[in-house]
Amino acid sequence: MVVVGAGIVGAATAYELTRLGARVTIVEQDVPAAGATGSSFGWVGRHGRWPGGAADLRDHVLPQWRRLEQEVPGVRVRWSGSLSWPPGHHPVGEPPEADADLLGAAEVRTLEPALRRPPEAAVHVPGDAAVDAGAVTRALVAAAVAGGARLLTGVEARLDVSPGGARVLGVATDRGPIAADHVVVAAGAGTRVLCAAAGVDVPVAASPATLLRFRAPSARAPSGRLRAVLSCPELEVRADGDGSLLVSAADGDPSPAHLDALATATAARIRATLRGTDDLRLEAATVGPRPMPADGAPIVGPAPGVAGLFVVVAHSGVCLAPVLGREVAREVVTGAESALLRRCRFGR
Ligand SMILES: Cc1cc2nc3c(=O)[nH]c(=O)nc-3n(C[C@H](O)[C@H](O)[C@H](O)COP(=O)(O)OP(=O)(O)OC[C@H]3O[C@@H](n4cnc5c(N)ncnc54)[C@H](O)[C@@H]3O)c2cc1C
Repeated sequence: MVVVGAGIVGAATAYELTRLGARVTIVEQDVPAAGATGSSFGWVGRHGRWPGGAADLRDHVLPQWRRLEQEVPGVRVRWSGSLSWPPGHHPVGEPPEADADLLGAAEVRTLEPALRRPPEAAVHVPGDAAVDAGAVTRALVAAAVAGGARLLTGVEARLDVSPGGARVLGVATDRGPIAADHVVVAAGAGTRVLCAAAGVDVPVAASPATLLRFRAPSARAPSGRLRAVLSCPELEVRADGDGSLLVSAADGDPSPAHLDALATATAARIRATLRGTDDLRLEAATVGPRPMPADGAPIVGPAPGVAGLFVVVAHSGVCLAPVLGREVAREVVTGAESALLRRCRFGR
């Protein structure tokens, strides 16, 4: 089998396939986590919108992350919880849901002493978490390789199909063809172009977003340390455990002038929000091509009309990678349809 793409979704799928005994070749045009994954904020939880078939996967996000953390060396999860305001900012995972609490200003202050001006009300989800999506991806690829998978990096794949296009034969690469009965495309925002060449339309586009990493030496002091993933209308920020603060910005203009302006404005918002951040320094700003299906829901399943070709692409791919990897691998290896993926198919 071939898995195209070593972002977090391809890495999780390749890992699960090897666990089920499949012989897997991972083909990555760059290096693992070079795509959206390497710029991800890495918030893992039930927050945000879960359109269509994504809603069926939502309850599996945290349990599947717990499983991977136990199973795979190098997969580390920061079980930090999350704090968002105003209530209603994130429609899911909020009271009266059992896993979320509505806190008043005094409770928020106790929970996050680093906040300069605690909001009057905020939603706390203690079970939420954050991951370094790049590190997790490399750990999953390493586990797949330890389980027998072959990894090709710096190799672009093109789909190789039978005359008439009814069946996939493998992939073509500059290093020669790789024959396979099954090809799983996990190419993120590159999925549409890759599949179009085989006559398959996958309605997914790149929605670029920016990850900013700041170093804030004083934010390591216990009094100033940010604990939870914080989400409010001005800012989505979390600590990275080493004195860094990570910020996710939906804005994805990669021009240097724009990134400079974004960094300056973001730094001002962090200083206004958190204590101990006067010595803030930008370390990096990277733009990642978030794969965004046209209707927002994951597209997962056999490609119509091309036997052996399987596609897996989703927004919130970090949240979903463990559950998608498991379900896709089971389906590809056993042929039994996953009930969880029923509403994620082509032509839903
Ligand atoms: C700033 C930012 C913040 C985010 N925050 C969150 C968050 O908090 N929580 C969350 O769940 N999600 C978040 N996301 C989204 C999440 O990161 C993505 O949904 C996820 O990383 C997608 O993973 P993927 O493996 O599908 O795609 P990618 O990581 O893009 O991987 C696709 C891989 O395929 C390779 N590839 C493409 N075409 C080919 C080809 N022809 N041959 C070989 N290789 C190919 C690419 O090089 C790439 O490595 C965020 C994204 C960004 C940018």
